[in-house]
Amino acid sequence: MRKRWIAAIVVAAAAVGGLWLGQRPLGEALYTRMAEARAGGDAVAGLPDGLHLFLCGTGSPLPDPARAGPCAAVIAGDRLYVIDVGEGASRTLARAQFPLGQLDGLFLTHFHSDHIDGLGPLMLFRWTQSSAREPLPVHAPGGVEAVIAGFNAAYATDNGYRVAHHGEAIVPPAGAGARAVPFALPPADGSPVVVLRDGELTVSAFRVDHDPVSTAVGYRFDYKGRSIVISGDTAASSAVTRNARGADLLLHDALQPRLVAALTRGLAARGAAGTAKITRDILDYHATPEEAAESARAAGVDMLILTHIVPPLPSRAFHAAFLGDAPSRYAGPIVVGEDGQFFSLPAGSDAIEREDIL
Ligand SMILES: [Zn+2]
Ligand SMILES: [Zn+2]
Repeated sequence: MRKRWIAAIVVAAAAVGGLWLGQRPLGEALYTRMAEARAGGDAVAGLPDGLHLFLCGTGSPLPDPARAGPCAAVIAGDRLYVIDVGEGASRTLARAQFPLGQLDGLFLTHFHSDHIDGLGPLMLFRWTQSSAREPLPVHAPGGVEAVIAGFNAAYATDNGYRVAHHGEAIVPPAGAGARAVPFALPPADGSPVVVLRDGELTVSAFRVDHDPVSTAVGYRFDYKGRSIVISGDTAASSAVTRNARGADLLLHDALQPRLVAALTRGLAARGAAGTAKITRDILDYHATPEEAAESARAAGVDMLILTHIVPPLPSRAFHAAFLGDAPSRYAGPIVVGEDGQFFSLPAGSDAIEREDIL
C-alpha cells in the first residue's frame, strides 16, 4: 500500500515537473505567434465609411481599476480624433490597436486634470509610431496654450533621449509634443460654434455648465448624416439637449448622487472630512443618470451612453443601482459605458452597431 502511494507521488511529481519544464518553450511559441499576429495591427483598417465611437476611458478622478480616465475616440471616414485623454487612456487606445500614429488631433472639453493627464503618452505614441513632422494639434477653448506649453516643457528632456537613441529619421524633433489650437469660447446661451471642418466632418463646440470651470464645452461631430454628441463634464444642461437634437449617439457624463452620498458618509465617519467635502461638492457639477436620460429624451437621440462614471462600480451587478430611475425617463437604449466599447454608425444607414473590442 505504502509503495503504491510513493509511486503515485513520484508519477505526479514527474508530471508537474514535465509541465514546468515545458512552460518555457510553450510560452515562447505562444508569445511568438501572438506577437507576430497582433503587433502593429490596426483596429480602424477595414471599417465601413461612417462615424465611429470608441470608448478609451469611462472613468473619473476616483480610482477605478476597470476604467481609464475620460477619453473618447471618434473616427469619421479616414479621419481620427480623440476627445479628452485621462490617465491610462492612451494605453487603452494602444491595447485596442487604435492607430495613434494616424491621429489627426485631440479635442479637450476643459482642463480639469482627469481630462488631460494622459496627454504625455498620447503625444509620445503618436510621434514615435508615425515619425510625425508636426506636433499633435490640440483644439480647446483659450487657455489651452498654457496647458500645452507645460506638457511640452515636461517632456522636452525625454524627447531629447528618444531622438538621441532612435535618430531624427524615426523621431523627427519637429514632430514631438503638441501644438495648442485655441478657439473662442462659444456663447453662454448654448449656441454652437463650428470649430473644425475636415472634409465632410464638421465639429461644433457648445458651452456647458461645469461651474467653477467657466470654459467647459461639449462637442458635436457630424459626418455624412450621422452624428455623435459628447457632453463633456456638465450638470444637467439645456445646451446639451439643444445641441444633441436628432443625434444618433449622446455620450453624457453621469454621477449617481445616492451612491456618492454613501461614499461621503463613509468618509465622514472615518474622519476624512476634507475628502468628504469634495465628494459633496462634486454633486453640483455633474449630471445624474436620470438627468442625462431626460436630456436624451428631450433631444430625441437614438442611444444614450453614460461615461465619467461616478462613483466607480465594482461590477456590472451595480449598473441598475447606478442608473436609478433613468430607464423610466428615456425609452431608448441606455449603455453604462465601459472601456473598450465600440459603436459604428455606417454612412447611408440608421444602424448603430456595437462591439466590445477589448
Ligand atoms: Zn471636470
Ligand atoms: Zn472630469
